[in-house]
Amino acid sequence: MRRVAVTGGAGYIGSHMCKQLADHGHDVIVIDDLSSGHREAVRWGRLVQCSLLDAPALSLALRDARCDAVIHFAGAIAVGESVDDPLRHYAINVGGSLNLLRAMRDADVRRIVFSSSAAIFGEPRQAFIDEAHPIDPISPYGRSKAMVERMLQDAASAYGIGAVALRYFNAAGAEPSATIGESHEPETHLIPRLLRAARDGLQVEIYGDDHPTPDGTCIRDYVHVDDLCSAHLAALDHLDARAGFHAFNLGNGNGCSVREVIAAVRAVTGRAVDVRVAGRRAGDPARLVACTDRVRAGLGWKPATPALEAIVESAWRWHRAPAY
Ligand code: UDP
Repeated sequence: MRRVAVTGGAGYIGSHMCKQLADHGHDVIVIDDLSSGHREAVRWGRLVQCSLLDAPALSLALRDARCDAVIHFAGAIAVGESVDDPLRHYAINVGGSLNLLRAMRDADVRRIVFSSSAAIFGEPRQAFIDEAHPIDPISPYGRSKAMVERMLQDAASAYGIGAVALRYFNAAGAEPSATIGESHEPETHLIPRLLRAARDGLQVEIYGDDHPTPDGTCIRDYVHVDDLCSAHLAALDHLDARAGFHAFNLGNGNGCSVREVIAAVRAVTGRAVDVRVAGRRAGDPARLVACTDRVRAGLGWKPATPALEAIVESAWRWHRAPAY
């Protein structure tokens, strides 16, 4: 049994992580300031309401937690907002992670799994992005994640902290009982937008159908949130056996276009979803798909729910009647 502090544990992926940790018999402490997370999502483990920007409170929280590992989800996630207000993004993502690493060093917590992002790679130079792909982010959001990875590397070699960075592709879906799910305000992500539109009879814009892809719409690698979380459990096991910094690209390795996602949403909901083609969104690469060789071999991970329709179906169970 482990004792794990989960920053951002009241958020979408964080709350799924807490459930999975509890399901596996681990103790959970949620560290979240509830600035974008939901109190109702904290159902597994106790909540310590604390901002990563409040260094003294964070240090105290971590010392009190007496945990043996941290899973670090808390952060700002909106790419567009990071362009408009980069310093806020750097403060939360880089400054918050710096405070967390200091607090870990002071409390002698020696393992961390970090939510990184495919955004660190910038414009892809290969069809399946592997870990050797150059790190060349094109947004302050991507740069903030890349900076934290560098910080983790340095902290790992200086303080003997073991760190795993998981570079997420597109998280989607919800756990089977749909008691927790994705609830962002504003919601910018494709699948929840489409499902809300299916539920409420709204229209969704397709950001460009003139991309260099077979149907002209962008291709992404959608991963079930529970599969993302199971990779974190495997990452903790990985750190039992080794120190240092390790990074894995975390996707299914399957690309789905926006049009394919719309078709899946229509099939799952049985509703006609109204869409309209709009202009491209700035900074959207045409195709972002993971090479999954390293995560499969290194963590012994494999997705339990790789099919797009099954991912959308689980998300629909949440979105048709979300609890928050
Ligand atoms: N997208 C879209 N309409 C929307 C939201 C997203 O066409 O209302 C597209 C977006 O351009 C991207 C894909 O859907 O190609 C996934 O976008 P999302 O914001 O969900 O994730 P991202 O890939 O940006 O992390």
